[in-house]
Amino acid sequence: MATMTEKRTNGQGQRRLSWDEYFMSIAEMVAKRSTCPRKSVGAVIVKAHQILSTGYNGSIRGMPHCTEVGCDMENGHCVATIHAEANALIQAARYGVAVDGAAIYVTASPCWNCFKLLANAGIQRIVYKEFYRDTRTLETAPKVGIILEEFKPDSQDDPAP
Ligand SMILES: [Zn+2]
Ligand SMILES: [Zn+2]
Repeated sequence: MATMTEKRTNGQGQRRLSWDEYFMSIAEMVAKRSTCPRKSVGAVIVKAHQILSTGYNGSIRGMPHCTEVGCDMENGHCVATIHAEANALIQAARYGVAVDGAAIYVTASPCWNCFKLLANAGIQRIVYKEFYRDTRTLETAPKVGIILEEFKPDSQDDPAP
């Protein structure tokens, strides 16, 4: 019978990553593709421990990147980019991948607009690393049945989806 320690050790004798750690570390890698110097955000949509889609914040396809031409600032925010969560949903839509009931791992918690998109796309769980600005998401998530939670490294649980 496998002990807890054996189950949590990888082939190199190191502690094996939890699912949350695994997907959040991938979201952090995805964020490195961001092209807006204001903020780098990565998102990974997951269902049943499978990656369905990824996204990072960047310009409209075919338009120059913020890193090339500078940001388009409005009220202190760059409006040139499509946010990571929106791009992850768009990528799923583009290739016909159903995200209903899925989870999303994001390096920063969603803005209000992205939260609304995720809610209506049927995302059920949002795991964020850094809390970003908008407290409306915290108030609204429980009302619409979305689990919105801060990433906890080394979590022993194995939550679904
Ligand atoms: Zn920008
Ligand atoms: Zn957003």
